Amino acid sequence: MTNASYPDVRLLIDNEWREAAGGKTIPVLNPATGLAIGTVAHASIADLDHALAAAQRGFDAWRKISAFERTAIMRRAASLLRERADAIARLLTQEQGKPLVQARGEALAGADIIDWFAAEGMRVYGRIVPSRNPAAQQLVLKEPVGPVAAFTPWNFPINQIVRKLAAALTTGCSFLCKAPEETPASPAALMQCFVDAGVPPGTVGLVFGDPAEISGYLIPHPVIRKVTFTGSTPVGKQLAALAGAHMKRATMELGGHAPVIVAEDADVALAVAASGGAKFRNAGQICIAPTRFLVHNSIKAEFTRALVAHAESLTLGDGMADGTTLGPLANARRVAAMSQVVEDARSKGAEVATGGQRVGTTGNFFAPTILADVPLNAMVFNDEPFGPIAAVRGFDTLEEAIAESNRLPFGLAGYAFTRSIKNAHQLMHNVEVGMLWINQPATPSAELPFGGVKDSGYGSEGGPEALESYLNTKAVSMVGV
Ligand code: NAD
Repeated sequence: MTNASYPDVRLLIDNEWREAAGGKTIPVLNPATGLAIGTVAHASIADLDHALAAAQRGFDAWRKISAFERTAIMRRAASLLRERADAIARLLTQEQGKPLVQARGEALAGADIIDWFAAEGMRVYGRIVPSRNPAAQQLVLKEPVGPVAAFTPWNFPINQIVRKLAAALTTGCSFLCKAPEETPASPAALMQCFVDAGVPPGTVGLVFGDPAEISGYLIPHPVIRKVTFTGSTPVGKQLAALAGAHMKRATMELGGHAPVIVAEDADVALAVAASGGAKFRNAGQICIAPTRFLVHNSIKAEFTRALVAHAESLTLGDGMADGTTLGPLANARRVAAMSQVVEDARSKGAEVATGGQRVGTTGNFFAPTILADVPLNAMVFNDEPFGPIAAVRGFDTLEEAIAESNRLPFGLAGYAFTRSIKNAHQLMHNVEVGMLWINQPATPSAELPFGGVKDSGYGSEGGPEALESYLNTKAVSMVGV
């Protein structure tokens, strides 16, 4: 069954939408209904060869355009994304499940990210370095690294692309993306904004197919000079190893398992509102989602009660329906994973304070779940849950909470709530994460570095650091004769 309002998505090569050679397609399912709503083209190696050749031509053309003009084109794309946000949100919700208001927010946030990077691209300065030889002039030049291969996941089909795309384009790179087969239409609509804004053919490309086949072909390919991936840590390690074997620059934005440290002196209402909101946004399928709730034992009961009330106030339903605040999980794999996480915690002695089960028999709905008094050996305290499950346990000293935060190999995001500057300093200097939010929800804005440490990856997808990873540095020393 196909849905008239959802397109069959094709491959974007040379600013044209093409069927895959051989016409192979993959069905796209609506996670709220389980029904097929469309198809996406499955690229063959021949298609990838065309896309690579286009990316090389696109790079040759795009890098010659001035930063000022590139900025203007990117800003036009951002404006188009804003104008089209309502229509794009409907595609996104149908393919991914998140409530319409969150889908629209994702498109609008994407436009902001493009605007910020567009402006920042005009400030990619080299430098002049005083020379030991008065006759020589020493320059440091910044040059685009070249065509970029990007691999992006289904949880934020637009924003996972936009951070990479905007940084690549603003530095003069071309950008070939393998976007998620499960959520292809909103990435296609995003790319259309750039085509309509006037990027030269090949500057942006979009392919879908077999992820391992595509990454295995693109990463070693001589045209590709930089690899960027967002997804799970095991896949990231494989792709980073492949990039390393072929000496390609790489940015890896991988899994997390964010601690939420609620200190004895925390504002409990603020902690619940901020971390509860962040927990259930996008049904918890966010790499920076709060997951390990570490709460001082003196306020644990109060905090858990309030978090349960927050979870129970959510309206679970089809993201297209008015009033839905929590959509289905994006695919059936996550429902099975959530059931396993809950059963494991229960069997090890945790209390299921609310939720804990699939809801209904159609669609990928899972109840917002709070697990209390979770033992450290429970799966949920060790593996990234990536779903609407919060696990709570108590602590007595801040040192204990920091040690638990740092116990896992992940180091992406962290949250802390405290009224004490002393505690805040202790947390900011000792929690091993790439991003720490204190007394507030996550604010992953374009101007702040975004990325992790340890097994959560390397490189940054925000701030000036994000541009640096798409640039080569060239030293020139020149004597006039
Ligand atoms: P997965 O690990 O198989 O895939 C994760 C993403 O990587 C998907 O987009 C997939 O298409 C892509 N991928 C997988 N193998 C690839 C390969 N060889 N080459 C290129 N791309 C490849 O698992 P999944 O079921 O899709 O997601 C489950 C887990 O992935 C979650 O538990 C979560 O930890 C992680 N994940 C993280 C993010 C994030 O924002 N960091 C987003 C989505 C998924």
